[in-house]
Amino acid sequence: MKNISELRQDIVSGDWVVIATGRSKRPNDFLVQKHIPFTQPKSTCPFEKRFPDARVVYGKNGPTEGSDWWVQTVLNKYPAFDKGICAVFNKKGPYVSTNGAGAHEVVITADHTRSFADMTDQEAELVVHMYQDRFRMLQDDICVKYISLFHNHGKLAGASIAHPHSQIIAIPVVPPDVASSLEGSERYFAKEKKCVHCIMLQYDLKEKTRIVYSSKYFAAVTPFASRTAFEIRIFPKVHQSRFEDISPDEQKDFAHVLRVSLAKLYRGLKNPDYNFFLHTAPVNSDVASRVKNSHQAKLDHSYEHYHWHFEILPKTAIWAGFEIGTGIEISTISPESAAKFLRKIKI
Ligand SMILES: [Zn+2]
Ligand SMILES: [Zn+2]
Repeated sequence: MKNISELRQDIVSGDWVVIATGRSKRPNDFLVQKHIPFTQPKSTCPFEKRFPDARVVYGKNGPTEGSDWWVQTVLNKYPAFDKGICAVFNKKGPYVSTNGAGAHEVVITADHTRSFADMTDQEAELVVHMYQDRFRMLQDDICVKYISLFHNHGKLAGASIAHPHSQIIAIPVVPPDVASSLEGSERYFAKEKKCVHCIMLQYDLKEKTRIVYSSKYFAAVTPFASRTAFEIRIFPKVHQSRFEDISPDEQKDFAHVLRVSLAKLYRGLKNPDYNFFLHTAPVNSDVASRVKNSHQAKLDHSYEHYHWHFEILPKTAIWAGFEIGTGIEISTISPESAAKFLRKIKI
């Protein structure tokens, strides 16, 4: 008798997920039938203009001063983090707090409706170039320990403005999900002397069942322990711990793979809402290696085991009591079926 579900363990975090194939839905059942695309009128859109105080602006041919902009980075009007005094940890009884020193920026593309899925490779590449550019700038701030880069597409994914935009938040601590990913990779490396993501990727590339798309430098895969239906992760094929270190060639290739992955979701699942975000090594080690403090240099070395990647999580399910109460997520399609379905989507 066939089991109705399978528990799979994420070998980085140690967490379990449930692949409930017995409740099996076919890929077409994920088409969001009643999904109403998130739209807002262009006439009242705050992102139509080129911001006079934009930090960086690129036109289709590179940096521009004019109105021919394609992508601009501006400070968030309602920032969660801002310039301030860093590295002050306040203690009150058993409790600890620190200042929200850092930065909160918004990366806006010029087209009111065209998201990544509808961009050209060249347009997507300029956005990725902007991401890298801002990373390199923000990591120079001594307060910054981690730079979070993410994109919310659609209302279910938490977007409040429909016009496509990404956010970059530089913060003075390493966030828990990143810390858990770093620790898991480090644990595996200490035991096996190999990068856990390289091992998984080599296996998946050979086995092919979870590969959605593969290019010269990158692979888009549906993870063995997918947390949601149609989760996709994009990894550099050659081990690299920092996103901001990618070469111009890799940047071009990565933008293509990100665009293709999102276009396959867009066409295959009829424009689902999704979040994507980056997991990369913390930045304080960069500062540390510059000051050449031996203890800090050791910290720098400790992140070499990490393998940066992007995670794309379509909103195909809503967390309910079981997920919130246990942290175990239930995916109703196997990653192998999801990859097979997405491979066939022509874009
Ligand atoms: Zn707009
Ligand atoms: Zn690796």
